[in-house]
Amino acid sequence: MPELVSDEGIVLRRRAFAEADRILVIFTRDQGKVSVLARGARRAKARNAAGLDLLTRSELLLVPGRGMAVVAQARAVGLPWPGADIVRTACGAVLAELVDATLEEGHPEPELYRLVATARERMADLSCDARLELALSSFQIAAIGGYLPELHRCAICGEELQDRDGGFLPALGGMVQGGCWNAQLGVLPCSAPSLRILRTMAAGDLSLLRRLRWSEPLRDEVESILLAHLEHHLDRPLKAARILAEFREVASPKA
Ligand SMILES: [Zn+2]
Repeated sequence: MPELVSDEGIVLRRRAFAEADRILVIFTRDQGKVSVLARGARRAKARNAAGLDLLTRSELLLVPGRGMAVVAQARAVGLPWPGADIVRTACGAVLAELVDATLEEGHPEPELYRLVATARERMADLSCDARLELALSSFQIAAIGGYLPELHRCAICGEELQDRDGGFLPALGGMVQGGCWNAQLGVLPCSAPSLRILRTMAAGDLSLLRRLRWSEPLRDEVESILLAHLEHHLDRPLKAARILAEFREVASPKA
C-alpha cells in the first residue's frame, strides 16, 4: 500500500476522463501544480464531490501513482465558492487561468500559493470586492514572476513619467506619455489616476487600495491594463478575461 500524501490545494481546472472519472489540475501548497485523478467523481453521489469543485480550496489525501496521483479524500475548507455570483466567479476563473498559465507542474511555489489562497478566500467573501482582489493578485503574480510593468519611465523614450494621462503598451510592458502615446497601435488608455493606483500597488499598500472607492471606469481601466500585461507576458490570451469583460459590459453597459 503506497503511503498517502496530505496536502492542501485549489482546483484550477478539470476535465472528464473515462466513464465516470475526472482529471483535475490542482495548485497545491506543498507540491505546486499537479494533475490528479479523481475516480468516480462524475457519479451522481460521488464521494469528495464538494471538495473537487472548481475554485474550491480543499484538504487532500493523495495516493501517489506511477503516473498521476489519485485522490483518496478531498475535504473543502475555507469559504464555499459563491457560484451564483457570475462576476465573482468570472474573477475566480481569471485567477485560476492565470495561475495555471504561470505554473509548471511539480514545482512548489509557497509564496504564490499563500497569495492565491488569500485572494481566493477574499473573492469568495461577499463583503470583499472580487474585482479589486483580482487586480491586486494579478499585480502580485507579475511581481513574483519578476515582470512588473514599468511605471516610472516612458516605455518608448525613457523620459520620466508625469502625473498625467497616457497609454499603456502591453508589448513594451509599460506606460507611454506625450508624443509617444499618440500614434501607437495596441495602446490602452492609462489615465493619471490609473498610474497612481498601479504605483500604489507597486508600493505594496494593499490596505490603502482596499479602502479606496474606485469608480467603475477606473476599475475597468486598471483591470484591462493588468490583464493585457499578463497576457502579453504569458504569450496567450486568457479566455476567462474575455468572459469577465463581457459580464462587465452587461453589469454596467457603456453609453
Ligand atoms: Zn516617451
